[in-house]
Amino acid sequence: MKKISIIGSTGSIGKNSLEVISNNPGKFSVFSLAAKNNVEELINQANCFKPKQVVIYDEAKKAELIKRLKSCEILCGSDGLVKAVTHPEIEQVLLALTGAEGLSPLIAAIRAGKNIALANKEPLVMAGEIIRKLVGEHGVQLIPIDSEHSGIFQCLDGRSSSRVSRIFLTASGGPFLNRNSETFDRITPDEAVQHPRWNMGKKISVDSATLMNKGLEVIEASALFGIGLDQIEVLIHPEAVVHSIVEFEDGSQIAQMSVTDMQLPIQYALSYPKRFKSDKYRLDLSKVGALNFQRVDTQKFPCLALAYRAGRMAGTAPCVLNAANEVCVESFLKGEILFTDIPRSIEAVLASHSSVKHPNLDEIFKADVWARNRTNELIHMKVSV
Ligand code: MG
Repeated sequence: MKKISIIGSTGSIGKNSLEVISNNPGKFSVFSLAAKNNVEELINQANCFKPKQVVIYDEAKKAELIKRLKSCEILCGSDGLVKAVTHPEIEQVLLALTGAEGLSPLIAAIRAGKNIALANKEPLVMAGEIIRKLVGEHGVQLIPIDSEHSGIFQCLDGRSSSRVSRIFLTASGGPFLNRNSETFDRITPDEAVQHPRWNMGKKISVDSATLMNKGLEVIEASALFGIGLDQIEVLIHPEAVVHSIVEFEDGSQIAQMSVTDMQLPIQYALSYPKRFKSDKYRLDLSKVGALNFQRVDTQKFPCLALAYRAGRMAGTAPCVLNAANEVCVESFLKGEILFTDIPRSIEAVLASHSSVKHPNLDEIFKADVWARNRTNELIHMKVSV
């Protein structure tokens, strides 16, 4: 049985991962579970999966876990997360945190030589160059869970990306694809978190509504597969059946299609290089009928263009884009800024940033803090942007 560490176990990907593990009895054992602050869910999961280690990121909640969970080691904070990805017995780490928080555990896991199933795209956006280099040095597998990237990974099927001429990432278009952009400043947080195709956490749902999620995914794909941004294109595909398309140098295109269920890319990342037999994920194209594709209107969804801009600036710019976006999404969800303030604020922060070329990790963390402070200043001082 493969011993797995699930980091971010109480979030949407974490819960789906545990379901995949339950659906494949005898194949996996859960060695560590880590969550940010959801004690109740974490205790339920620990009682069910009997891990050796349980980590709660929020140190204030450690005492409660110690009181209620007797049969495993209880850890907390960033140190706890690092232990939960580096223990010698762990064979694969599934990293499903949200946002920049995933960067340190990801680096620790790679340095410890662990194979990783990665759902958390932000670390690759922040520090793609460093992560690619470390993955090469330590000879670990970094297998994407993000559905589009899992699709690319499956289309490539071990082939070198030097034979690729273009990659197409698909986007369902989110909840506002057909909404008049003149009404975008009236979009409420409740409307923004209603995704038409995928059931996800709040942050990624807002990112999908602004299309920043797709922008982050473009940078993520470039970092994961070593492919230039100019070779990566985005297609709106409302049916969300085709997850991505790889075009090879002869013009032939291979697409990956499946039902919209995150458990499938999770299962593939855990079973790779094998595929598990399953009747659960059957796609009936006759029921889908037609597959539609269109280009993105970046006037309507400027976040996608901002991500390309930051990606081309390279260095610390993608990290700044990501940090500014995280702050903006949080403020939007709290009702402090408008939906349309998200791209406006990110653009202003990016414009005032001097990107550091080939940054080291310290420079990345510094750029992350700088961008968060700068974005908060813009938002809370109501500086006109
Ligand atoms: Mg995705």
